[in-house]
Amino acid sequence: MKIAVVGTGYVGLVTGTCFSETGNNVTCVDIDKSKVDKLNAGKITIYEPGLEKIFLRNQKEGRLHFTTSLADAVKEARIVFLALPTPPGENGSADLKYILGVAADLGKLLTANDYKVIVDKSTVPVGTAEKVKTAILNNGAPEFSFDVVSNPEFLREGVAVDDFMKPDRVVIGTTSEKATKLMNDLYAPFVRQGNPIIFMDEKSAELTKYAANSFLAVKISFMNEIAQLCERLGADVDMVRRGIGSDSRIGKRFLFPGIGYGGSCFPKDVQALVMSSDEVKYDFKILNAVMDVNVAQKLHLLPKIKAYFGGNLKGKKIALWGLAFKPNTDDIREAPALNIIDVLVDEGAVVTAFDKEAMENVKQLIRDKINYSENQYDALKGADALVIATEWNEFRTPDFDQVLALLKNKVIFDGRNLFELEQMKDLGFHYESVGRAKVVSK
Ligand code: NAD
Repeated sequence: MKIAVVGTGYVGLVTGTCFSETGNNVTCVDIDKSKVDKLNAGKITIYEPGLEKIFLRNQKEGRLHFTTSLADAVKEARIVFLALPTPPGENGSADLKYILGVAADLGKLLTANDYKVIVDKSTVPVGTAEKVKTAILNNGAPEFSFDVVSNPEFLREGVAVDDFMKPDRVVIGTTSEKATKLMNDLYAPFVRQGNPIIFMDEKSAELTKYAANSFLAVKISFMNEIAQLCERLGADVDMVRRGIGSDSRIGKRFLFPGIGYGGSCFPKDVQALVMSSDEVKYDFKILNAVMDVNVAQKLHLLPKIKAYFGGNLKGKKIALWGLAFKPNTDDIREAPALNIIDVLVDEGAVVTAFDKEAMENVKQLIRDKINYSENQYDALKGADALVIATEWNEFRTPDFDQVLALLKNKVIFDGRNLFELEQMKDLGFHYESVGRAKVVSK
């Protein structure tokens, strides 16, 4: 099948590459010429484990193409995916300018007797499929030359290829029989193990995506509040997590407390669902609380750090491990590390950071506001404390001899609960984490 993917970012590049992997002929479009040039030169533009290999193979075998021309990409395509940004607008609701702009352009390109399915893969509010259809029709597309389908994407950065190739489920919102058949054929190779393709109406599909992300955000903020209680009551959140996670109604996953959720999805999607609720005069109380808890949680370590240094961070050297909003990605959108850096630097601390994939993106954003280190150990040289903001695997079992030798003070503030309290005590660290007892060593 010939496919076009409009928008070649985290979702678009994975979508296009994975569809080419099952034999489709895919053309990805982007307005960013430098991105397209790079991809055409065989250079991958994002860090995503496993992606480069299949990107190179399919490109070499002539099934994966990149262009800046929407017209060229959609000319022969039967299905056109929109994997465009839907950032928060001024009031927090999803800004549809990219989606509706491309929909208008598509309207000028579609012709009679050349049926195409236009698929919203971006995360969009309920009613967007209808708006896309109207924008296409208003720009000259003949009636019945297309259907608009909602097919929200559930991939997680860091394991995006696996998530795409073996999805837990595929959600497709359409009431068109023709589109149902095409979408079913396209996704059949991805669900051979029996995971479902769930067909529903467009609005339900659109809401499913927001409901899924918001529910996961609820779990995170809930556990972060339990962690707050643990610290005040002298309980251990790790124990509580294991205690509740073994209940099959609750489940083990997504119960880890930390310094809040970030990334390009949870913050904006929770906010957008609250705005959608407001628009229909429904006060979504839980989600308002989830957002408040998350804002506070991102700075959870700061009072602990300040208290340790007697309220004065001026001139303190802080090593920071982790910048990405989560491990296995270079994505720094809404990363808690950035909030921590802002406060530390404002208070006069000197920050030296290390992250094996996200440093370049941070450099572009904040340049020399902080120092950058070549590896995780160099960052520690002469530091008054180590702060951990992202749970990269290599931080989990570091060479503690080196850590002890390089740090000026044996002090760790761990936003991801990477280490056992006993071990920290044995090694003689002052160690503060989230929802667990403070380890105070001399
Ligand atoms: P992104 O910013 O990484 O990529 C968007 C791409 O679209 C960019 O390369 C940009 O240059 C391009 N673009 C903008 N305007 C364009 C136009 N007119 N024509 C062609 N290209 C254009 O965004 P993303 O993270 O891939 O997210 C895309 C959508 O998918 C969002 O709605 C997001 O909420 C949703 N989503 C993201 C994830 C994720 O983990 N990143 C997961 C599921 C869903």
